[in-house]
Amino acid sequence: MTTKWVYAFEEGNAAMRDLLGGKGANLAEMTGIGLPVPPGFIITTEACLAYLNQGEQFPEGMWDQAVTAMGELAKKMNRQFGDNSDPLLVSVRSGARFSMPGMMDTILNLGLNDEAVKALEARSGDARFAWDAYRRLVQMFGKVVLDIEGHLFEELLDRIKAEEGIQTDPEISAQGWQKVTQWFKDLIKKETGEEFPQDPWQQLERAVEAVFKSWNGKRAVDYRNATGISHDLGTAVNIQTMVFGNVGWDSGSGVAFTRDPSTGERDLFGEYLFNAQGEDVVSGARTPTEVHHLAEEAPEAWKTLSTISDKLEKHYRNMQDMEFTIENGKLWMLQTRNGKRTAAAEVKIAVDMVDEGLISQEEAVSRIEWFQIDQLLHPRFDEEEVAKVGVLAKGLNASPGAAVGKVYFDADTAEEKAKAGEAVILVRPETTPDDVHGMLVAEGILTQHGGATSHAAVVARQLGKPCVAGCEGLRISLKERQFEADGTVVKEGDTLSLDGGTGRVFLGVIPTVAPSFDDQPELQRILDWADQIRRLEVWANADDPDQAARARRYGAQGIGLCRTEHMFLGDRTEKFQQAVLAAERGDRDEFQRVLDDILLPLQREDFYGIFKVMDGLPVIIRLLDPPLHEFLPALEELVEQVAILKTQGKSDPQKEALLATVRDMHEFNPMLGLRGCRLGITMPELNTMQVRAIFEAACDAAKEGTVVKPEVMIPLTSHVNELNRIQPLLEDVAKTVMKEKGIEVEYKFGTMIEIPRAALTAGEIAEVAQFFSFGTNDLTQMAFGISRDDAERKFLLRYADPHDLNILPTNPFQAIDQIGVGRLMQMAVDEGRAARPDLEVGICGEHGGEASSIDFCHRIGLDYVSCSPFRVPVARLAAAHAVINEKRS
Ligand code: ADP
Ligand code: MG
Ligand code: MG
Repeated sequence: MTTKWVYAFEEGNAAMRDLLGGKGANLAEMTGIGLPVPPGFIITTEACLAYLNQGEQFPEGMWDQAVTAMGELAKKMNRQFGDNSDPLLVSVRSGARFSMPGMMDTILNLGLNDEAVKALEARSGDARFAWDAYRRLVQMFGKVVLDIEGHLFEELLDRIKAEEGIQTDPEISAQGWQKVTQWFKDLIKKETGEEFPQDPWQQLERAVEAVFKSWNGKRAVDYRNATGISHDLGTAVNIQTMVFGNVGWDSGSGVAFTRDPSTGERDLFGEYLFNAQGEDVVSGARTPTEVHHLAEEAPEAWKTLSTISDKLEKHYRNMQDMEFTIENGKLWMLQTRNGKRTAAAEVKIAVDMVDEGLISQEEAVSRIEWFQIDQLLHPRFDEEEVAKVGVLAKGLNASPGAAVGKVYFDADTAEEKAKAGEAVILVRPETTPDDVHGMLVAEGILTQHGGATSHAAVVARQLGKPCVAGCEGLRISLKERQFEADGTVVKEGDTLSLDGGTGRVFLGVIPTVAPSFDDQPELQRILDWADQIRRLEVWANADDPDQAARARRYGAQGIGLCRTEHMFLGDRTEKFQQAVLAAERGDRDEFQRVLDDILLPLQREDFYGIFKVMDGLPVIIRLLDPPLHEFLPALEELVEQVAILKTQGKSDPQKEALLATVRDMHEFNPMLGLRGCRLGITMPELNTMQVRAIFEAACDAAKEGTVVKPEVMIPLTSHVNELNRIQPLLEDVAKTVMKEKGIEVEYKFGTMIEIPRAALTAGEIAEVAQFFSFGTNDLTQMAFGISRDDAERKFLLRYADPHDLNILPTNPFQAIDQIGVGRLMQMAVDEGRAARPDLEVGICGEHGGEASSIDFCHRIGLDYVSCSPFRVPVARLAAAHAVINEKRS
C-alpha cells in the first residue's frame, strides 16, 4: 500500500496537527463544520521529513497524489490549473505543528504567467488587479523560492512610485504594475540566470520544495532553538484556491480575534482593508479600519463573520485568531488558531468561558500558566514607553517586577535616602547579608555579579522586590560612586528603571502599570478553583508579621520557614554581637544576661506577632542556622582598620580584641562549618532562649484565644544523635514554659533534611523528628558538591546553557534535580513515613515556588510546599496542575 501523503481539507480535522500542521488541521476542521473555506489540500509533514531525509526527493507517490488533488480542485472550481485561458490560481502556505512566525512566507496567486494574466484581466475586467496579482507572485516566488533579497524588489517598487509621482502601492496604475512585473522578472534573470517559470506545474513543484526546505532554513532552526520546539517535526504544505480581496471596493481582507487579546473582553476585535490582498492589513502600508465598521460597510460579510466567530469559539472552546477575505461581498475563512493573549486576557477568558458553560473549572485552571500569574501580580512597565527609551543594560531576570528609583551604591545611604522619602535603587557589585537593610527599603536591586540564586536574587524574591542580577555589562566604581554601562555614566542620585522580569535596565523613569491581587477577582476565582483541585498544601516562608500577613492574603496555609537570623539584623546586630563576643570570651554570665534580658523579649515579640497573624495555622520556626561570624564585621575590614590605626601610631584595644575574636572564628568553609544544629549543640543557650521565646509567645497568644501551632525546626541535622542530644533539652524548655504559663498548646519538633546523610538515614531520624522539611538549597549544594554562589559565577550557568556546555538540563538551584537530589528526597519520604506514618513532610527551599519542582513534590507525596509569599498564588496553581498532569498521564 502506498503512503497517503496528501489530504483534501474534507479528509482532515483539528486533531491531526502532527500530520497536517496547525494551519492545515484547522483549515480542515473549518471545512468539516461547514464554514466557507476556499477548497484545498494538504501535503503532510511526513512528506516533508521524507523529502529531507531522502536527499531532497519527493517521496514515492507524493507528486501523483498532489496532481490528483489539483484535479479535484479543478472539478470543484470549474477551472483548470495551468489553463491559460481561465486559470485556477492557488496559494502555497507552510504550516508546522506549532506556528513559527517568519518561517516561510506564503506564495499567493500561483498559476499566473504572461498568458494567464491576460485571462485574469479579461475575467475580472480589472487590469490593475490582474497585474498586481501577477507581480505579487513573481515577487514572492523570487524571494521565497529563489532566495533573492527582498529589498531588491522593494527598491523597484519605490522606483515606480517615484516615476508615477505617488506615495503608496494601491495608487500604482495598471501600466505601472505591468512595468514592475517586467522589472521583477528581469531581476530574477539577473540574480539567478534563469527565467521566472511560466509553467504553473513547475511553479507549484518548486514552491512545495521551497516549503519543505524552509524547515531547515536558518530562521526556522534559530526559532526552534530559541523556543525549544523539536527539530524533527517537519512542516506541512497547504495548497488552497485563491480568493481575492483586491478585486475592487466590495472586496477586502482582514484579521480578527473572537475576543480582545489584551483585555479578554468578549467582543470581536480586529481590522480590515478594502481592496487588499494577503498581508496588506498587517504590513502597515495603509491604515486598516476597525472591524466593527464592517457592520455598515459590508453588512452581509459582517453578519457572516460574527456568526462564524461565535461558532468557532463554541467549537474550539477557546479564543480564536482568524484571517478572512471578502471577495465581491462574500466572506471566506483562510485561517483560525488559538489566539495569543496577555496574562490578564488569558485569565478573564478562562473565567468567562466557565460562566458561559464552554469549559469546566478544571480546564480553566489548566489553561493558566504559572508565569502568567506571576506577571499579573507584579507591576510592570508600559512597553510603549520602553520602546521610546531603549535598554541601557541587560542582566539576569532575578526577581520579577518593575522598579523606578534613584541609584545608591551602599545600603546605609539607601536607607537614609529612603527614610527621607526617596525611591531608591540599590546598586551593588553583589549583595551580602550586610546589605539587607538597604534592600528592604529599596524599590529594586541591581547587581553586577551573581546568578539567579545569588544572595541578591534570593532575598529580592523573598521580599518581592524587583531584581536584576549579574548585569556584567556594568562597571561599578564604588569610589567614584557611579557606574558605566554601554558608554553611559550613571552617577549616584540618577534615576533608573529596572525590569526584574526581563533583566532589562533603563535610564530614567519608565511609567508602570500596577496590578494588585484584590482588584483581580477573576484571578482569585481561578485560584479558588485550583485550591479545590490540588492535594499539596501551600505554605509560605515568612520572617515577620508583615510577610506572614501577605502570605495569608495570598492564600498560604501555614508558615513553612520562619528564619530567625533575620531577626538579628538591622539595629539588633549590635545586641547580638554583644552576646557572641561574651560567649567567645567565655563570659557565660554576660552571655546569658544578654540573651535573657535583651534578645529573648525581642524574639518573643517577633513570634507573637506571627502567631497572631497565622491564627489557626501551623508556623515552623527554624532555630538559628548561619555561622555566628556572619553577624560580626568582616575580617578584612577589621584587619585594614587596625593596620591603618597602627600606621598612624594609634591603637584601639577593643577593635584589636574584636579582630582576635573574628580571626578565631574564621572558617575556611563556613557553609560546612559551625552552623545549624552544630551551633545549638555547642552553644545550647542560644537555642533554649529561642525555644523559650517561641513558647512564651505561643502561650501568650493562646491565652488570648488565638489558635497557635508552633513547630520548632532544627537545622542541618546529619546524624540522629544530634537530634537525640538537643531535641529533648528543647522539648523540656517547651514543657516548662507551658507549665509556667498554665496553658498547653499543640506543637511539634522536627528537622530540616538538607544533608544527604540525613536523607539516607531518614528512618532513624524520623524516630525522633515529628516533621521533615527539605532545605533543597543546601541539599542541592551538598548533593552536587557545588557551592552555589561560586558556581553560578564561574561555571554553573554555562553548564545549564544548551548553547554552551550543556551538561545539565536546568540549573538545579532553580528546578529540583529530580533524578539525583529528588531521589534523596523520595528515599527520605518513604523511609521517614515507614518509621512514623504521620510524619509531616514539606519543602522550604526556593524550589517550593517553582512549577516543575512543585509537580515533583506532589508526585513524591509531600504534604506541602513552602515558598516566598509572592509565589504563593503561583504555587497554588502549580499544585493544581500537578494533579491535572497526574490524571492525564
Ligand atoms: P502566515 O502563516 O504568515 O500567516 P498565511 O499562509 O496565513 O501566512 O498567508 C499569508 C496571507 O495570505 C494571509 O493574510 C492569508 O490570509 C493570505 N492567504 C493565504 N492563502 C490565501 C488564499 N488562498 N486566498 C487569499 N488569501 C490567502
Ligand atoms: Mg508569514
Ligand atoms: Mg496566517
